[in-house]
Amino acid sequence: MNILGVDVSAFTMEQAVKIGDDMLNSGKNSVVFTPNPEIIWSAGRNERLKSALDSADLLLPDGIGVVIASKILGNPLPERVAGYDFLHKILELCADEGKKVYLLGSAEGVAEKAAENLKKQYQNLQIAGTHHGYFTQEDEPRIIKEIRDSGASLLVVCLGAPKQEIWIAENRDKTAVSMAIGVGGALDVIAGNVRRAPIAWQKSGFEWLYRAICQPSRIPRLVAIPKFMLAVTWSRIRNSKEKTG
Ligand code: UDP
Repeated sequence: MNILGVDVSAFTMEQAVKIGDDMLNSGKNSVVFTPNPEIIWSAGRNERLKSALDSADLLLPDGIGVVIASKILGNPLPERVAGYDFLHKILELCADEGKKVYLLGSAEGVAEKAAENLKKQYQNLQIAGTHHGYFTQEDEPRIIKEIRDSGASLLVVCLGAPKQEIWIAENRDKTAVSMAIGVGGALDVIAGNVRRAPIAWQKSGFEWLYRAICQPSRIPRLVAIPKFMLAVTWSRIRNSKEKTG
C-alpha cells in the first residue's frame, strides 16, 4: 500500500510474525521498519530516510494514522501492527528457537536493564550483547564487529527515527544478523523507564497522545500528523480527479 511514496506492507500481525519467523531462519540480513505518520512525512523531505525505507523488507504500519491514511486512499490496510508488539512476538520466537538477540540503542544502561527484564520475561532468551545508542562514527566499526561476532540472529535498534532507519540500511550487510528492526523507544519501555500507553488508549487509537502527555518533549513532533493527513487527503482528491478526468 503506497502512502505518500512509502510502500507500507499490508499484513495482519499474524502474517507479519510468520514472515518475521521466515526472516529469522533465512539468514539473509532482512530489515523491518515500523513507520508512523511522522516517519512517512519526514521521508518526503529526507532522501536518506526515504531510500532507507525503500530498502526494507517489511514496513509495518506502527501508527493508527497510517491505517487511517490507507482508508482515506481507498485501499485499507488490514490492521495496525504496532512495532512494540511485533518485537515482543519476535523475541518470543527467538527464545523458543534458541536464536540470540543483540540490543543496540538508548541511553547508557538502558539496553542492559532491558536485557535483564527480557531474560525474566522469556526464560530461554539469549542476549548476545548490548550497546548504548550514543556512539561516535569512530566507535561504529568496533560495535559492528561486536554484533557480528556475537552470533546474534536479531538486532534490535533503538536510535530514534530517522537515525535508526539510516543506520540499519547502511550497516545491514556488515552485521551478519538475520533480522534488524528499528523500534524507537522500545528499549526505554522494556527497561521500565517509560510507560507504554494503557490498552484502552492503544485500542482507541490515542497511543500517540498518551506518549505526548507523558513525554512533553514529543509535542513539537506532533505537527507532522496534521500535515501528513492533509497531504494524504490531497493525494486522494488528486487521484480521484485523474480517474474521472
Ligand atoms: N537515541 C539513541 N541515540 C541517539 C538518539 C536517540 O540511542 O543518538 C535513543 C533515545 O535515547 C531513545 C530512542 O533513541 O531511547 C528514541 O526514542 P523515541 O521515543 O524518540 O522513538 P520513537 O519510538 O518515537 O521512534
